[in-house]
Amino acid sequence: MAGVSYPYPYEAKVSQTLFDRASLVTPGGVNSPVRAFRAVGGTPRFMVSGTGPYLTDADGREYVDLVCSWGPMILGHAHPAVVEAIQAAVARGTSFGTPGEGEVALAEEIVARIEPVEQVRLVSSGTEATMSAIRLARGFTGRAKIVKFAGCYHGHVDSLLAAAGSGLATFALPDTPGVTGAQAGDTIVLPYNDLEAVRAAFAAHPGEIACVITEAAPGNMGVVPPGEGFNQGLADLCRANGALYISDEVMTGFRTSRAGWYGVDGVKPDLMTFGKVMGGGFPAAAFGGRADVMGHLAPAGPVYQAGTLSGNPIATAAGLAQLRLLDGAAYEKVDAVSREIQGLVTEALTKEGVAHRLQTASNMFSVFFTEDEVRNYDDAKKQEAFRFNGFFHSMLAQGVYLPPSAFESWFVSTSHDEKAIERIAAALPAAARAAAEATA
Ligand SMILES: *Cc1c(COP(=O)(O)O)cnc(C)c1O
Repeated sequence: MAGVSYPYPYEAKVSQTLFDRASLVTPGGVNSPVRAFRAVGGTPRFMVSGTGPYLTDADGREYVDLVCSWGPMILGHAHPAVVEAIQAAVARGTSFGTPGEGEVALAEEIVARIEPVEQVRLVSSGTEATMSAIRLARGFTGRAKIVKFAGCYHGHVDSLLAAAGSGLATFALPDTPGVTGAQAGDTIVLPYNDLEAVRAAFAAHPGEIACVITEAAPGNMGVVPPGEGFNQGLADLCRANGALYISDEVMTGFRTSRAGWYGVDGVKPDLMTFGKVMGGGFPAAAFGGRADVMGHLAPAGPVYQAGTLSGNPIATAAGLAQLRLLDGAAYEKVDAVSREIQGLVTEALTKEGVAHRLQTASNMFSVFFTEDEVRNYDDAKKQEAFRFNGFFHSMLAQGVYLPPSAFESWFVSTSHDEKAIERIAAALPAAARAAAEATA
């Protein structure tokens, strides 16, 4: 399929039929905006099954998956041991509305891996985790204001949907209708990787800032790692000013190392949030940290937080099974796969003379179509995102499924073997050519 360009010469008939049906009963035809392919155009692929590094769509086409459900599937799809744990849990019943051993075991696994987490509360999505962590920080400090960084995405929490990345970067929404001035009014949005801006914010609002929340290593504006000393600087400034430092590890947690990004840079947050990998493909997420702060949560303390399906037995069984398989060798494998694919992408784009910059945060990586280093959201938006469109569709036509946006991390798994990587390698030259030939 050399020389594939957009519009690509193959059809996704069944997917299109499903998308037409979906569009009648669901806004935009999807249950999460980026899935709709609006940034890249074309028919979103409706997937019917996954095994290892592969996904199969409703038209029977197979793809090497470089999205991995946006991170969770770090062992690949339908890993036998995870499936077995899920099946065993399902057979015992699906929800009890009572405490259960599975949630204790999952909490213990998280606490054992991540030293700053002394106590943890399980929830069902990353959004709930960051929302609850913010509420707890406000309840604990008695302060209202929060600091976030432009391009960092923390789920669709009202107060955090100011200059967020991810789907919002894709759609270039300046803000979202439905979030009131009152809800966003206590949110201070600062440029990423700019400690001076944080220092100035604390000086301008003495005694008012409850917390600083940041992606531990941002992946939602594409991958933009923290500069040397940035996270430590945030932790120090928070401590000096009586604010809490919240590290959002929903994406990086249990992915960038055994202990997530904390395992990479060792900067100690007061609170942390998790999701994605820890749920093994099910809706399980968490927030945790200092025991004295977590002790303010109901029923131990006055800050209310709850969930009918929190700590769900299937979700905790899936998450636990996945985490137990994620040993040192597993992370070495994921890192090696990531490096290999990074090398292939760089080689292909360089050969075609496409200006690009590959940025990494451990095994997370993404390609920016620019020559310049990307240190924040403004830098990210300066890339020639139109080149990604041609690149993406060429890869898709050749059976490689990339995130359908130039502002997302790519994700790999332990299951990406030589055969899968060879397929990626075979697809890259034509995709790089499509990127080179793309016009704005
Ligand atoms: C995905 C993500 C979230 C939101 O998690 P959901 O489960 O989609 O609600 C929050 N923070 C970060 C850093 C994420 O990547």
